[in-house]
Formats: sequence, C-alpha cells, structure tokens
Amino acid sequence: MSYEEERERMVINLRRRGHIKSKEVVEAMKAIPRHLFVPEAARPSAYHDTPLPIGEGQTISAPHMVGIMLEKLDLSRGQNVFEVGGGSGYHAALVAHIIGENGRVISMERIESLAERAREAIKRCGLEGRVVVIVGDGSLGWEQLAPYDRIFITCASPEIPPPLVDQLEEGGKLLIPLGSRYLQTLVQVEKKGKKLKRKSYGGCVFVPLVGEYGFS
Ligand code: SAM
Repeated sequence: MSYEEERERMVINLRRRGHIKSKEVVEAMKAIPRHLFVPEAARPSAYHDTPLPIGEGQTISAPHMVGIMLEKLDLSRGQNVFEVGGGSGYHAALVAHIIGENGRVISMERIESLAERAREAIKRCGLEGRVVVIVGDGSLGWEQLAPYDRIFITCASPEIPPPLVDQLEEGGKLLIPLGSRYLQTLVQVEKKGKKLKRKSYGGCVFVPLVGEYGFS
C-alpha cells in the first residue's frame, strides 16, 4: 500500500472511532504526510495510530491524540497560534493547514536537532514561513509575537505556565496536558477577563515539559 493509501485509511479509522469530525481537521490529516516527520526507520509505521520515536528520547504523538487536540483547539483561519513542544513539527503543520495562508504558527522546541529536522519537514510540505520553529523554553512563551488566539502544549505540565496565560488573547483558548510526569488530563482553558473557564477531556500521556514551569 502507498503512503497515500495508508494515510487515507488512518483518517477513515480516526473518523470511525469519533476522534476527528470537522471537515477542516479531516482535510488537514489527509493532506499532511506524517511519514515525512518521522525518522527513516519509523516510516513503515508512520500511519499506525501510535506514538513513534523521533530521536533525543522524544516522540511524535499518536494520530488520535493529535486529532483530538486539533478538534478541541477550535481553530479558525488567520489565527496566531503558539505551540510548546514542536518535536517533529507534524502537529504544527496540521494547525498551519487549518488556519490557512493568513495564519501563523510559532512552534517552540527546546532541542535544537529536533527543531532543525522539523524545519526541513515543514519546508517539504510547502509550509515554510507559515510555521516558524524557534529553539527555547516554551513554558516562558514568546512575547515578541503575542497575544496568541490559541496556545497548545504537547508535553506533560505540572501547572499552567503563567506567561502563557498572559500571552493568550482575551477570549483565546489554551490546551494543555495537566498532571503528573506519568499521567495527565487534557485540559482546555478559555480566557475570560481575569477568569479562566476550564474544561477537562480525559486522560492522556505525554513526555514531560522541561523548563521554568515544567518538571525539573
Ligand atoms: N508536537 C510534537 C509533534 O508533532 O511531533 C510532539 C511533541 S513531543 C510529545 C514533546 C516535545 O516537547 C519534545 O520534543 C520535547 O523536547 C519538547 N519540550 C519539552 N519541554 C519543552 C519546553 N520547555 N519548551 C519547548 N519544548 C519542550
């Protein structure tokens, strides 16, 4: 089976299991080639619904988790989005596809070699300039291009980093796996004045956030 056929089948299965529903998310997952975001050795498994190693002890998340997060992010065209934990760049590329040419994703990754590979894959998808990969501690955010309409964190966090709340636009949404190093709950917060409206979406497991507001 070709990568395209495998990807089509992955999307059919994610829809059937109810992980993805909206036209925008379905089209993005059909369009972005996950195999370009994983190392050569992992390519035969690129369209299996499982996390895969991407080097440096890190992983690309399972497609169902990426799909769930894309749905909960409730993205619109033209938004300014910040990601903490760029990893392979796959999740950022999907977001860029959904928010369109007038949108922008700032993806922060703490490991330089992963950031470099993510930039290459993003370029191969024709999304250069629409996803900017920056090396640094994403728990501090990136003030230069704030405020953000959406912020998503793709690593396990012990708390919601306060700089990320400060850098979220009024009415904006932030998605974060909150909990311990080994088990978290996917939480969405919406900024309403000085209040944060919180919703929980069930259990998940991510690699830990390492940084000022992460695990030591
Ligand atoms: N979203 C990624 C993708 O599409 O491949 C998967 C991310 S992986 C589950 C989590 C990533 O978070 C790792 O690459 C790790 O190096 C990164 N990370 C951990 N702490 C970080 C921090 N403080 N700032 C930025 N990146 C961080």
